[in-house]
Amino acid sequence: MSGPATDAPATDAPATDAPERDTATRSDAPDAPPRRRYELDDRGFREVPKRWRKFYRVWQGDGDTLAPNEIICPVCKVVIRSVREFRAGDRVYCMPCMSRMVIVERADGTLEPEVTYERS
Ligand SMILES: [Zn+2]
Repeated sequence: MSGPATDAPATDAPATDAPERDTATRSDAPDAPPRRRYELDDRGFREVPKRWRKFYRVWQGDGDTLAPNEIICPVCKVVIRSVREFRAGDRVYCMPCMSRMVIVERADGTLEPEVTYERS
């Protein structure tokens, strides 16, 4: 036998035919309370393909607020939006800067994205 050994785990493969397009990958327990859903509107974020524009917006600075379905990318500072509220453990993808992150809950209860570095 020769050639490169590719023993990448079969899990965690991106679902290309996911029924619902979203920036977040959720792994809720079966008995987890349902998440609030959000209607996303296109804010004219032109750095991603048109069908993804509604998932991102520019942070407006002081006076701007994040909804429960929004987080700020720690790398490029754009606001990443999801069709449902974020919870700790969610995996989020920032298309503008191609960062992957996981949502973690701080001691004060706020949610924050933490960039993950995964070999692919
Ligand atoms: Zn980013």
